[in-house]
Amino acid sequence: MRAVAAADQGYLKAHERMETESATRPKLTTTPQGIPITGLLKEELQQHFKELGQPAYRVEQLLDWLYEKRVDSFQAMSNLPKALREQLETLFSFSLPEILEHTVSNDHTQKFLLRLTDGNLIETVLVPATPAKFGKSSERQTLCISSQVGCAYGCRFCASGLQGWKRNLKSHEIVEQLLRIEKISGKIVNNIVFMGMGEPLANFDNMMKAVKILNSPWGLNIGARQITVSTSGLVPQIQALAEQPLQLRLAISLHGATDPVRDELMPVNRRYNLDALWGACHYYQARKKQKVSFEYILIQNVNDSLEQAVQLAKKATQLDCKINLIPYNCVEGLSWERPSTERQHAFLSRLRQSGVAATIRQEKGHDINAACGQLRLRREQMASAPALPLL
Ligand code: SAH
Ligand code: SF4
Repeated sequence: MRAVAAADQGYLKAHERMETESATRPKLTTTPQGIPITGLLKEELQQHFKELGQPAYRVEQLLDWLYEKRVDSFQAMSNLPKALREQLETLFSFSLPEILEHTVSNDHTQKFLLRLTDGNLIETVLVPATPAKFGKSSERQTLCISSQVGCAYGCRFCASGLQGWKRNLKSHEIVEQLLRIEKISGKIVNNIVFMGMGEPLANFDNMMKAVKILNSPWGLNIGARQITVSTSGLVPQIQALAEQPLQLRLAISLHGATDPVRDELMPVNRRYNLDALWGACHYYQARKKQKVSFEYILIQNVNDSLEQAVQLAKKATQLDCKINLIPYNCVEGLSWERPSTERQHAFLSRLRQSGVAATIRQEKGHDINAACGQLRLRREQMASAPALPLL
């Protein structure tokens, strides 16, 4: 118990630090390298161009180069006057992440380990459609993106939490995961899930700004209903998300149906317990009129008893929701195991008997460590690994 209490204290300090950072962050700061251009909203660009004495249509041209033609240098923007291109070069920057590793799974899931300009590592996963679900010709491509370097929330089963939290991603670092991976893979992403490394709702402002760039017709034009924000259960931020005008989808990492079980797995539950969390989900649903989805990792003899299924069903039947059961992905250094297929199906059947919409999520990329944070963890454990790009 003492160990848990100490971990909780660490989490609270880190959490508060994140909120402070976001609250005090200046609106636009010019770094010596220039302001990252893909982290700016259209209205911010318009303001900059106004200050430069440029007509409004130049912003449209710039956006076309950034998000339609997808160039990554100002010199390539051939319909902008040369003098303007030079000015833009001094004021703004492209700070593209470098691909350190690119792994392709047997099921075509592609996992990328990216190095940010300050050397920090993050992960992004590209998941193709399941043909059985969407048809063979489906072009549906889901990008699972990171919102932070590491994570402060220390869920006991999660590789991202194992090494703690380092920093929030800036909005451009979120947007660039998509730009970079589309370029390298040649695929068009049409679905985004914030299920990579980090807790997106603890990086609320930067995440929302990135979402606006991803969603806007002048940006990447991905529908809000095609963007899912996943959270471990930050109740005030779920309420804040409900107040946003966008119809973003909400996913909750639940993993326990009663407080004692969830407390053991997710320290955040000691701050916002299940009653508070279910309350926030009802609030979100009332505001947004849409289904909420829940992720529930099945870990053998930890949270996979039929009693947990019964408790889960009691709550789930009161909400319009869907439950995705995910067999636990083994993480190096952790002793837990995934339950047998029979046990997984018994849990699923118990939920379905009560009328709950539930599925066992078809596993993706297991052979390439596709669970959140595993690639970075392995990389950082290999102190002698050569830091050479593979692409
Ligand atoms: N912090 C947010 C967003 C990250 S989502 C959240 O927790 O919702 C990362 C997802 O990967 C979560 O649903 C998490 O529960 C899942 N995950 C983490 N470790 C896993 C593991 N070892 N096996 C299977 N899923 C895992
Ligand atoms: Fe953080 Fe989510 Fe992993 Fe928990 S599951 S440690 S909140 S990334």
